[in-house]
Amino acid sequence: MIKKYYLLSPGPTPIPDKVLSVAAEPIIHHRTPEFSNIFMEVTEGIKTVFGTKEDVFILTCSGTGAMETAVVNTLSPGDKVITINGGKFGERWGNICKVYGVVYKDIILEWGADFTKERLAEELKADPNVKAVFATLSETSTGAIYDIKGFGEVVSGTDAILVVDGISGVGAAPCPMDEWKVDVMVTGSQKSFMIPPGLAYIAFSQKAWKMVETSKLPKFYFDAKKAKKNLGNKTTPWTPAISLIIQQKKALEIINGMGLPKLFEHHRILGDATRAGVKAVGLGLLAVNPGNILTAVKVPAGVDGVKLVKTMQSKYMAYIAGAQDPNKGKFFRIAHLGYMGGFDIITALSALEMTLLDLGYAFEPGAAMKAAQTVLKENWQ
Ligand SMILES: *Cc1c(COP(=O)(O)O)cnc(C)c1O
Repeated sequence: MIKKYYLLSPGPTPIPDKVLSVAAEPIIHHRTPEFSNIFMEVTEGIKTVFGTKEDVFILTCSGTGAMETAVVNTLSPGDKVITINGGKFGERWGNICKVYGVVYKDIILEWGADFTKERLAEELKADPNVKAVFATLSETSTGAIYDIKGFGEVVSGTDAILVVDGISGVGAAPCPMDEWKVDVMVTGSQKSFMIPPGLAYIAFSQKAWKMVETSKLPKFYFDAKKAKKNLGNKTTPWTPAISLIIQQKKALEIINGMGLPKLFEHHRILGDATRAGVKAVGLGLLAVNPGNILTAVKVPAGVDGVKLVKTMQSKYMAYIAGAQDPNKGKFFRIAHLGYMGGFDIITALSALEMTLLDLGYAFEPGAAMKAAQTVLKENWQ
């Protein structure tokens, strides 16, 4: 058989053909009006996706670079912060703070668990010296989505800033930065923005910008003040990833052309279809509050979770993602973000069913696809 490659992972994600093809166009020089026009159009387009009136800075790095940018531009050595650690990516906030000598209280949640705004309010009350709260919109390691709106209500009433890792969530689930009082928002290009890895986006509120003015942590490449000064001249401090920015222009035409409400509804349908599918074959979800960005599914008793992911990838070429350490083998993740359509869910579930049959798991073959198809059919528009 021709083995076709199906990318079903929560980053990198599939990319529309017309976005891919513009990367093959001849490179243009970045210090020109021609590039500046494209650059500013992309900046404006990302502001729309962020839901902000503030400047958005386009960085040449993966999402983690924007996370580091958030830390080094707002804080000073010895500052106290809270990190909400619900998985691999929530944990990363603490790891960055540690390297820079920021004192962080790591609130470690069980993977997939929720965290309420009431608990955050208690934490902030217990230590009024906290300068920042670091949270995650969509914890991509567990599929959980968090109450950023609630966190914003709580944090905005204090002197602290709310920093949100929106790397897989922004563009697939609502998180309007200004309305929800997010002070620093970061995302990456290879998740919901429908382009390859290599760009990251960051924006600061006025409240956060005051901290930028006094921040003493070291920075050079990721200096937000340099980025702001250059944005004033419609450019970047360093050579931008020209081709990726041109690709982002094309992808934003799709994203903002469709409009965010429709895009979120699209993800809601894919999420519902996936959840219905896995439940129909007796599988359970990891997250207490699952997002519509990806679905983490618990590996059933008697099935080897590492083998399941390996079989789906190497035998069926369905590239879902496994669970990361320390939960390797315990669950797997089916993505529905980026350029995904309804039939991508059917593909994922079909490969999953064939794999479960290979691994001797007992269920009614076809049940997952039937359940997902019902959701897709009822919601098709
Ligand atoms: C992918 C991801 C990251 C890490 O981004 P890189 O692009 O790999 O640096 C961080 N946080 C979340 C929520 C992610 O999904």
